[in-house]
Amino acid sequence: MKFVSTRGQTEPHSFSEAVRIGLAPDGGLFVPEQLPDLSEQMREWEGLSYTELCIRFFQQFATDIEVGELRELVEEAYSKFDHEELAPLKRLDERIQVLELFHGPTLAFKDFALQLLGKLYERQVALSRESINVLGATSGDTGAAAINGLLGKDGVNIFILYPDGRVSPLQERQMTCTGESNVYPISITGSFDDAQASLKDVFGDGAFSRSVNLSAVNSINLARILAQCVYYIYAWLKLPGSERANTTFVVPTGNFGNVLAGWMACRMGMEVAGFRVATNRNDILHRFFSSGDYSMGEAMASLAPSMDIQVASNFERFLYFGCGADAEKTRAVMAQVKSEGVFETSDGSLVGSMSSTRMDDAEIRETIQEVYRKYGYVVDPHTACGFKDLDEFEHCVILSTAHPAKFPETVEETLGQPSTHPSLEALKHREIVAYPLPADAEEIKAFILSKQNPVQTK
Ligand SMILES: *Cc1c(COP(=O)(O)O)cnc(C)c1O
Repeated sequence: MKFVSTRGQTEPHSFSEAVRIGLAPDGGLFVPEQLPDLSEQMREWEGLSYTELCIRFFQQFATDIEVGELRELVEEAYSKFDHEELAPLKRLDERIQVLELFHGPTLAFKDFALQLLGKLYERQVALSRESINVLGATSGDTGAAAINGLLGKDGVNIFILYPDGRVSPLQERQMTCTGESNVYPISITGSFDDAQASLKDVFGDGAFSRSVNLSAVNSINLARILAQCVYYIYAWLKLPGSERANTTFVVPTGNFGNVLAGWMACRMGMEVAGFRVATNRNDILHRFFSSGDYSMGEAMASLAPSMDIQVASNFERFLYFGCGADAEKTRAVMAQVKSEGVFETSDGSLVGSMSSTRMDDAEIRETIQEVYRKYGYVVDPHTACGFKDLDEFEHCVILSTAHPAKFPETVEETLGQPSTHPSLEALKHREIVAYPLPADAEEIKAFILSKQNPVQTK
């Protein structure tokens, strides 16, 4: 299987190559040359453990990795989860189930993708015998998950920029209290946008980024999307056969990455009733799905900060498949979004099985209370966004994207009782190691250079 760019101006790449480069050189995103029809296989996959299912699924795509090696990568990637099933389904009532995706080491669904991506990076380093420097910017969860996925990996340094004082104290601790010497959390003076802008400048210096073998860790990496397809299929196979086709997956989303993964699984043969795109007050995706208007505004702070996003970068993959894998059309639309900040469509086929909702902060609080009152179940503020207008569904599975203890302030204020998790408590006693820097590409480059070890030879 080869992977092509959504913009059609990049040579087909192998799985490992596409994962290593992340963004395609023509500015597009890597997608499988063809989405395989897995409906037959899915029937045979019923009853498999999560890791076994993941191996079978990746075998369809990572055709340049030998299956024995793939097995090792997957088994190790998911060895740090604290629930035997990795992604357990919890039934709240006859119609509503929750898919708990917060049993990974940083208690958010991003662990599913980043633990595996960490193993793939490690494999790459071992093959090429060249060390790599991974650089990313975060507003919280991605940084923590990426750092954890790369902890202590030989030949990999990880540098994460985060806005000083603007990530939650626990998220900061998850990044800065690891005690590992290959981890460099950099607290940037300024906002997330300032951090993001200086990151772009660092990557913009091609000579520099080649000289230190710089790699981006962000939500556009192909391996992340594919890793996320697995938990949809896993949950779907656990549903009673009679419910599968009548079930809607409800996905709290910001970047569109998570819901895209489900939609792709559906295109590969996972038959469902549809998807619900649940946004917070940053509602660009809700506006698109309810009225065809995709115009960007400023991202506003909310109680669900990991969804405070206005540029849904993974949307490009959806557009690409939605317009029949037409790279030329995708290019034109992306150019229009870039120059005018707007894209409108009346093409019903794109919207198809998707519906959407928006939830503001007051509703998030009410929902946390109501879900607790009704079911005795505590949800985090991101997951809460999914509990809106569910009456229209015959059956639904709401993806729970984070453990409530990750956002203790909101949960405690709302329910009047604390939410804790042992792994977060342990962090409170560890030393914080962070590197403060201004939002300046030159200073960041100098810092990265100062941390290079002599090349390791094995
Ligand atoms: C990242 C994140 C989201 C949004 O995921 P997307 O892939 O951007 O849709 C939602 N909830 C939590 C807790 C997250 O960390």
